[in-house]
Amino acid sequence: SEVKVKTESKEYSVHIGPGASEMLPEVLKTFNKAPKTILIITDDVVAKLYLDKIEAAIDQSCTVHHFILPNGEGSKSFQNYYEIQSFALEKGLDRNSVVIALGGGVVGDIAGFVASTFMRGIKFIQIPTTLLAHDSAVGGKVAINHPLGKNMIGAFYQPEAVLYDTSFISTLPEGELRSGFAEVVKHALIWDKGFYEWIKENIPSLEALDEERLMYCIEKGIQTKAEVVSSDETEQGLRAILNYGHTLGHALEAAYGYGGISHGDGVALGMLFATELSEELVPSLDLSKELRTLWKKFGFPSKIKPGIHPEDILNWMKKDKKSKSGHIHMVLMQEVGKVLLESVPDDVIIKKLASFY
Ligand code: NAD
Ligand code: ZN
Repeated sequence: SEVKVKTESKEYSVHIGPGASEMLPEVLKTFNKAPKTILIITDDVVAKLYLDKIEAAIDQSCTVHHFILPNGEGSKSFQNYYEIQSFALEKGLDRNSVVIALGGGVVGDIAGFVASTFMRGIKFIQIPTTLLAHDSAVGGKVAINHPLGKNMIGAFYQPEAVLYDTSFISTLPEGELRSGFAEVVKHALIWDKGFYEWIKENIPSLEALDEERLMYCIEKGIQTKAEVVSSDETEQGLRAILNYGHTLGHALEAAYGYGGISHGDGVALGMLFATELSEELVPSLDLSKELRTLWKKFGFPSKIKPGIHPEDILNWMKKDKKSKSGHIHMVLMQEVGKVLLESVPDDVIIKKLASFY
């Protein structure tokens, strides 16, 4: 299947399905000038699994280079950014060259940032290999990390195309699948009640995510992301709703420490938290009980690890980009499919946090 993404700066297609990566030659042919050089950026795990296949698909008339990063968040560094740029210059890439990001969100983010700045910007194509990348590969946010903050150095830079080969997901470890699935559920909850109902009926557990259902989840998730981003490419307003569950989620990631909780697990817990807070403000909303049942089925956490103090979590929440002059702003829900940004007082947050142990 295909989802079209229309933003102010660019229009492009996301092709989803088993074998979608085989469309690469076709996509390259649509470019005005055929690139003479292509740089594939990937990580060591993905390289072993899929790099040969992608390289073999590219026409012999084109020189293909690859740069393999160690897998993991640590690779989104200045050092690697610099090394890739040096590599690209040494190999003679020019303004007509193309960068291909083959991997999860880490690879997509750094590869996209490299592409956005190499010779003031060259074309790039996303070939996502994780479920979480249904979120990261669409929307055009690209970045590396700074020691003072995650994703602090980056750009808005859209790819030419996204080739989402769902057969690649089959090798993904369970924890990574669950992490990505949390963002799928998020996209349903904030925007698409019908899709949320579908998840409830069709996904009794993560094991039920066969290729067909996975494809549908990716398609619907990307549709939500595409619709939100198309009306607010550079995050002036509406795009903030994509942060549902993330104010607490990011705080938990920070408070648990590196590797302590996956992004998706943090977001899932954060969505439960935001939903309960929403229920206090919107009496007609009655969802958190149902979410708790679903969370058990999906293996998402619904409790905060003991030993982590609510005050510490609150302080991390205040560092959120959405908070203004020390006041926490969270995305809260009015009804399934409809959320909005609200300021939430500290004491309300502390009290609610206390009930999550
Ligand atoms: P990741 O890229 O680190 O991938 C997770 C792990 O899975 C890695 O070890 C990787 O080697 C491995 N892997 C990838 N594909 C595989 C496959 N098919 N089979 C087996 N193993 C595979 O992490 P991620 O969860 O995809 O992405 C997280 C990153 O995405 C974070 O840096 C986050 O900041 C970023 N992100 C960006 C956006 C955005 O809009 N740009 C949105 C959300 C997240
Ligand atoms: Zn997220």
